[in-house]
Amino acid sequence: MLLSLKGKFLLLLLAVAAVSLSSSLFLSRLIIRDFQSYHEGEMEDRVYWVTADLEGTFEQHGGWPRDLLAKDTARALLLGLEIRVRDAGGALVMDSDQALALLPPLTRERVLAVSGPATKGGAYLPYPLFLKGEQVGQLEVRFLDRGKERFFISRANRFLALAALVLGLLAATLGIIAARRLARPITALATAAEAISRGELEQKIPVGGNDELGLLARSFNQMAHSLKLQNALRKKLHANAAHELRTPLAAMRAEVEGMLDGLVPAGREQLQSLNEEIGRLTRIVEGMEDLIQAEASPLNIRKSRILPSQLLQGITERYSPRFREKGVELAVRADKKLAALADPDRLSQIMINLLNNALKATAPGGSVTVAAAAAPDGTLISVADTGRGIAPDDLPHIFERFYRGNEGGLGLGLAIVRELVDAHGGRVEVRSEPGRGSTFTVFLPSS
Ligand code: ADP
Repeated sequence: MLLSLKGKFLLLLLAVAAVSLSSSLFLSRLIIRDFQSYHEGEMEDRVYWVTADLEGTFEQHGGWPRDLLAKDTARALLLGLEIRVRDAGGALVMDSDQALALLPPLTRERVLAVSGPATKGGAYLPYPLFLKGEQVGQLEVRFLDRGKERFFISRANRFLALAALVLGLLAATLGIIAARRLARPITALATAAEAISRGELEQKIPVGGNDELGLLARSFNQMAHSLKLQNALRKKLHANAAHELRTPLAAMRAEVEGMLDGLVPAGREQLQSLNEEIGRLTRIVEGMEDLIQAEASPLNIRKSRILPSQLLQGITERYSPRFREKGVELAVRADKKLAALADPDRLSQIMINLLNNALKATAPGGSVTVAAAAAPDGTLISVADTGRGIAPDDLPHIFERFYRGNEGGLGLGLAIVRELVDAHGGRVEVRSEPGRGSTFTVFLPSS
């Protein structure tokens, strides 16, 4: 990892801060430039006012009266201009020092209060003074730098530097906090995933919020939970299977050893019994294969729109000889137009297992009814028998693997039914009354 997620995030935030800072720097440069040209224009206007004043004085008095010139010069000082006035011959007729000396003391004080602290800088610029097209003198001006402009610019620069510092610090802090927040759940996820790959399935990571990371954490927890469940189921199946196989194997072994020791005659009857045990073992192994396939069915289920009445009719036709043989009535009740969403092969297996159980449980003279009906958001398919029913103590366990009440079956049929119904996203329920019969109902969702 060249750069951690945290580092990348921090870098991104710093880059954003740098871009916003440089654009504000550019903007502030533009503002300062505009301010400077505005200031220059303003000073030009002031020179124009002073020129107009001086020309007016000359026009009124036909010359350069010193007391009026002193006033004009003092006003120019108040406007931030230090001036010198020369007559048409080029002789100096008034400058700031002379003007200040001529002013009454109070006025002088006021003028000095404004213009005094200013630094004088730069050369005098000449402006000719005209009356009716004829040059009557010359005004020389230099601008007093009263520091206002410099103050404005330095304040703007200081503000920018401060903003850069604050923004940089803020971006870095926010970046670190956000990066930590972002990286923490991902690191937790990586650690938990690693633990799972080592076989430690007991993993749960904290879910923070409803954003994408929260969703990821939730999905991860779900995945870890179902992995744990699957693992537990697999262990249980192995244990159950070993137990189921061990008993008939032990019986067979005892019988064969007895024959070898000469304690049991190796006659036709004994071989027949051995053959039956082998048949039972074969059925267990086949049943387990069916169950394993059923467990894998969520991965390869192929749902399509089917007509339950047709499917049920087909199955019951195939099974009716066995029912007839036992003297059990078999009936189908399903609306011909009713449609359902199901994998036909898997649904057939569900129905066959339920019909087998119903037939086993129903005494001659009884009946089994298979029905299909529409339900909100799906279809209900039921198998009802008038058989012996299921004891309340057995009822909660009949869907477990190898649970088989007091009969000699394998105890896998209903476990397979439940796996296949689950694979459809549906559910299976049972109602039973001992001595009166049982009804198994399968709900298949329509989506
Ligand atoms: P099996 O292969 O032994 O039939 P199942 O898983 O299909 O195993 O059924 C488990 C047990 O549930 C059966 O042994 C039986 O005791 C009980 N059972 C299932 N269906 C019925 C039914 N229709 N009537 C009465 N008992 C039933």
